[in-house]
Amino acid sequence: MYKEARETQDKNLVKGATGDWEVVIGLEVHAQVTSKAKLFSGASAQYGGEPNDHVSLVDAAMPGMLPVINEECVHQAIRTGLGLRAKINKRSVFDRKNYFYPDLPQGYQISQFKDPIVGEGKVLLDLKDGSQVTIGIERLHLEQDAGKSIHDLHPDHSVVDLNRSGVALMEIVSYPDMRSAEEARAYVTKLRTILRYLGTCDGNMDEGSMRADVNVSVRRPGEPWGTRTETKNVNSIRFIGQTIEYEINRQIDVLEDGGTIDQETRLYDPKKNETRPMRSKEEAHDYRYFPDPDLLPLEFDQALVDRLKSELPELPDDKKNRFMSDYDLSPYDAEILIATRSSADFFEKVANGPDGKGGRDAKLAVNWIMGDLSGHANAKGVGVHEAGVSADQLGQLIDLISDGTISGKIAKDVLEIVFNEGGNPADIVEAKGLKQMSDTGELEAIVDEIIANNPKQVEQLKTKPKTIGWFVGQVMQKTKGKANPQAVNKLLQAKLEIGEG
Ligand code: ADP
Ligand code: MG
Repeated sequence: MYKEARETQDKNLVKGATGDWEVVIGLEVHAQVTSKAKLFSGASAQYGGEPNDHVSLVDAAMPGMLPVINEECVHQAIRTGLGLRAKINKRSVFDRKNYFYPDLPQGYQISQFKDPIVGEGKVLLDLKDGSQVTIGIERLHLEQDAGKSIHDLHPDHSVVDLNRSGVALMEIVSYPDMRSAEEARAYVTKLRTILRYLGTCDGNMDEGSMRADVNVSVRRPGEPWGTRTETKNVNSIRFIGQTIEYEINRQIDVLEDGGTIDQETRLYDPKKNETRPMRSKEEAHDYRYFPDPDLLPLEFDQALVDRLKSELPELPDDKKNRFMSDYDLSPYDAEILIATRSSADFFEKVANGPDGKGGRDAKLAVNWIMGDLSGHANAKGVGVHEAGVSADQLGQLIDLISDGTISGKIAKDVLEIVFNEGGNPADIVEAKGLKQMSDTGELEAIVDEIIANNPKQVEQLKTKPKTIGWFVGQVMQKTKGKANPQAVNKLLQAKLEIGEG
């Protein structure tokens, strides 16, 4: 049924009371298509709005209404397929998936079953330990979202908001290729990055734009697949991880007690951090899928695929590889920078300088972006490009460090001033007299004074050359950190007649 399974790796095994268990995870991610209108109607697909404001007669399933496919949603699905390096099916079919629910006025959802628009693809993950994993994509299909039943607005009524009814979703189904909660989190994070680069889904999980059905099973290494549970509609990356951890422990406990796992649908409760059964396979629906007679099969030619492909932006993996070769970055640094297009662009602006020709110390740029800038950005809950320092300002700061005008330590102070008061680093250094002292005349006087005042330390230095650091520290204190450490070292070595550190 499935493509070949990944080999068992010791690092992913979970210790139970009776031995090791291997965890198997497959995710079905629902991603809302970024589009102005819904999949089969002209109503707005925008998030929010007054209840039932974005509802056409088609979305409300008035008798005699006919669905008309929104071409842009089809293009978005093709772009996404290309971004997942997947097979694009130039002929696909819309089916009716029949079930009753108050927020589903048609009595069926238009979806794709046997013939989806996108076939097999893959997503590459870089994990914290430096290893790489490829997660297989089984398919991507287009379908309608349902409306929303609201049960807590009225004491004895439920109400229905159809704004979401008919909005286009892409269901992206992975193979059961993930082996830990960490891998599942990395997969959803990477998937979201790809969708955001492509502009095909905004990835805002707190608005429900992306949510996952989480399939988890455990097995003894090398044994056949275990029975899985499916936890529905988990809507944050953290909760996906917690769902998996909870299910792993629960399933292992049941199996080690001699019980069996029921193939069932469960729900995650974030307040209690647990999953609970929702319905079992016996109650499972027979959806009676059949091709929707109101819609022709969806067909397009290779020329369309080629055109959309030629218009795609640089994809995250390509950008990462380019960063590693152009700027000599480590895979880890590159991975963090490409996480969003804006942080990647910000880094390139800093590294490439005002003329765009490059030449700035890229490693220095990375360190400042991931260090001080990230700190400020995280505290504000924004991206590094919005931390409060422009690429120009950070670039200037790096120039001042690179040409020896200021030390890294002073640069930290200058950056704080930029954060708090704004301004150009070069002007701040000038105005506050923060230039590094490399001028030997002035430094020499200070060094002489410290040597004269500390005969004991001078004596000790003869047997312990490493204590020269103490003298450097003294000079730094006297100059409030402005002395150029190399210049100080040279002076001290010459005066105290010792070799290099
Ligand atoms: P269904 O259509 O009933 O939901 P599928 O076979 O299409 O079932 O699988 C749905 C998801 O469940 C896929 O993401 C797949 O990778 C995952 N899955 C299938 N078998 C297992 C298993 N034994 N353990 C964990 N996940 C699984
Ligand atoms: Mg399913």
